[in-house]
Amino acid sequence: MKTKFDIAVFDGDGIGPEIMRPTVDILGALADARSYDFVFTDCPAGAAHFAQTGESLPQASMDAARRSDGILLSAMGLPSVRYDDGTEISPQIELRKALTLFAGVRPVRVFPGQRTPLNMRQGREVDFILIRESTEGLFYSQGNGEVTQDEARETLLITRDISEKLFKFAFKLAADRKAKGRGRGRVTCVDKANVFRAFAFFREIFDGIAQDFPDLAADHAYVDATALWMVQKPWDFDVLVTENMFGDILSDLGAGLMGGLGVAPSADIGLNNAVFQPCHGSAPDIAGQGSANPMAMILSAAMMLDWLGTKHDNVEMMEDGARLQRAVEDVISQGEGLTPDLGGTGTTQSIGAAIKAKLLS
Ligand code: ATP
Repeated sequence: MKTKFDIAVFDGDGIGPEIMRPTVDILGALADARSYDFVFTDCPAGAAHFAQTGESLPQASMDAARRSDGILLSAMGLPSVRYDDGTEISPQIELRKALTLFAGVRPVRVFPGQRTPLNMRQGREVDFILIRESTEGLFYSQGNGEVTQDEARETLLITRDISEKLFKFAFKLAADRKAKGRGRGRVTCVDKANVFRAFAFFREIFDGIAQDFPDLAADHAYVDATALWMVQKPWDFDVLVTENMFGDILSDLGAGLMGGLGVAPSADIGLNNAVFQPCHGSAPDIAGQGSANPMAMILSAAMMLDWLGTKHDNVEMMEDGARLQRAVEDVISQGEGLTPDLGGTGTTQSIGAAIKAKLLS
């Protein structure tokens, strides 16, 4: 008897359905050879769905996500479809808030042989995690900003409750990485505490939680300096933790360091649920051409396997998460048949097939 896991699948908009297809196919192939299995539930949502039905996140999709063991989400939103106030349709943000997915985990890793804008020095490995708080911060005011003829206001919210959960998550992750030999056990709080009281509050809570982890190093950095150092010496970082808006911006910088959005995975994790989705958006400029890079989505699925395996003590799933990540790394290292964003002429389908072939070989 196989152990079944319910996975809510949000195909989303633009390139979303294209990159989800090979991802679900690979997960199915992995499960075929194992004692676990997946039941995938299609969850309509997003900008195209809103344009057709007037609903961006139907209750049935929300309920399926809440009930599921894990959530895969490709990308949502289209610049051409907007709410009346001019903002884009982004149910992924609603999901983060509704399911309290406070920890946005953004791994930044340069794989061997990967092309990157950095002039990498020998022996320097870029492998760090940026944790973006994902339920409050400046995004708290989304949809509620006040705009008059003469001024506009958006309010930032930082709560003790969410910050404590966030920092505990960050320190536990750093401890886990250290145990696996992937980090030095250091957490850096990224803020702007020299200017804003809200960030001094954020930092003070960080320092309090740091006391509970005496075996780990804890320090602080201002967000502007962090942007500089991410380019100048990214090999110095281990785990960075920051506010929602700062994390939004720095995670795209991290994706740039990795060689592009097409290879940057992410997870939004709470105490019970988690959404796994690439860092990129729905890329309407290349939708329908079959040229989108599915690697960020597939690496996000690898993170899901690791998270599910750890949560359910399922060694096979944890192993498969690591295998899937290695298969993507191998395809990148070989450097052949990559998608146009990585300088090749490959397709979404051919890259999916190459990763699957590595796994099954
Ligand atoms: P959002 O605000 O929703 O995150 P965005 O405006 O940042 O979206 P993206 O949709 O992420 O924009 O696209 C930014 C650029 O990166 C586009 O030129 C797009 O084609 C490219 N891009 C994004 N994802 C991929 C991918 N998987 N493969 C190839 N190119 C991609």
